[in-house]
Amino acid sequence: MSRGRFGMHGGQYIPETLMNAVIELEEAYTYYKKDADFIRELDVLLNEYAGRPSRLYYAQKMSRHLGGAKIYLKREDLNHTGAHKINNVLGQVLLAKKMGKSRVIAETGAGQHGVATATAAALMDMECEVFMGAEDMERQALNVYKMRLLGARVHGVHSGTATLKDAVSETMREWTNRIHDTHYVLGSVMGPHPFPTIVRDFQAVISREIKAQCLELEGRLPDCVVACVGGGSNAIGAFYHFIDEPQVALIGCEAAGRGIDTLQTAATICTGRLGIFHGMKSYFCQDAYGQIAPVYSISAGLDYPGIGPEHAMLHDSGRATYVAVTDEEAVQAFEYLSRTEGIIPAIESAHAVAYALQQAPQMGKDKIMVINISGRGDKDCAAIARYRGEDIHE
Ligand SMILES: *Cc1c(COP(=O)(O)O)cnc(C)c1O
Repeated sequence: MSRGRFGMHGGQYIPETLMNAVIELEEAYTYYKKDADFIRELDVLLNEYAGRPSRLYYAQKMSRHLGGAKIYLKREDLNHTGAHKINNVLGQVLLAKKMGKSRVIAETGAGQHGVATATAAALMDMECEVFMGAEDMERQALNVYKMRLLGARVHGVHSGTATLKDAVSETMREWTNRIHDTHYVLGSVMGPHPFPTIVRDFQAVISREIKAQCLELEGRLPDCVVACVGGGSNAIGAFYHFIDEPQVALIGCEAAGRGIDTLQTAATICTGRLGIFHGMKSYFCQDAYGQIAPVYSISAGLDYPGIGPEHAMLHDSGRATYVAVTDEEAVQAFEYLSRTEGIIPAIESAHAVAYALQQAPQMGKDKIMVINISGRGDKDCAAIARYRGEDIHE
């Protein structure tokens, strides 16, 4: 694969001023990913600090109730900070430290990646600055507080729609200004090479564990792995070690928002077109003039207008299938899993649960479906209550 291409996708569409930074990062990563000390230190962090391995839980009540496939939940919601994001930030902040950097910067949408980065920075004694759309800071005041509590500085971004895509652009600009002591901890499998590869490798621990756990519990691989897709990091993490196992179906669930036939959607594969943005070639939600379209989903973690280049390739080749799940379907799944298994999933993860509610009953009882529960839903309770017309005190 030449310079981070995934089929025709990926690449490095960046200004000259960033080239040295991504080359330095690629060289360091190529070295440290094989370095025994790095591997051991990251392993200790993942196990002792983040709480890995996460469980592969047999959802017996849900399986019985749906009457089809045997359903397992990969419990990334049990990780420290409550989602899969910690896998990536521990890897990247440790890498930055090895590279001699003293400062990390990150973009954040809903604040989940910002909080995870601030957490890893606190642990590893790094200065941390997070860029967040001013609009999002307003909506996610609790996460802004957490980041500051963890010692990070949070900068409001006022350009564009003052949301996630603008925060990514601003963080890239900031990185250009200060490369010598700063690493950009990118939050998903996107951006210029080598980020989609680095983030995927750090998240691939999810499918490495699913594979071993499913073999241990069932003596075989699952028939189907389902995950929600924003930028695509939890999904690629859950898919990666199954890509070369063609009997395992890989299903990515995008946020349809109010529907893929409306403008209020974030379903990139289902509604987007090929383009170049944030340093990569991939599919993006665009308007009639090829400008990046405003996107919408009830789930703040899924409303990014693009998708990682490896997913774009898996879609082109047909190896993975991408489906769109509406707000309403996700909210129903959020309530269903809470009620049925006593597990409140992140509203992002509920998009994958919604697919299972539709498909598992059509599958034979001898089939095995794994749903990646990318995070826990405490953060979403107030918004879902509001969606249902109930105003609870936040
Ligand atoms: C951020 C987030 C996502 C979306 O990001 P991906 O890179 O697509 O995984 C999904 N689930 C949760 C819980 C998140 O916090």
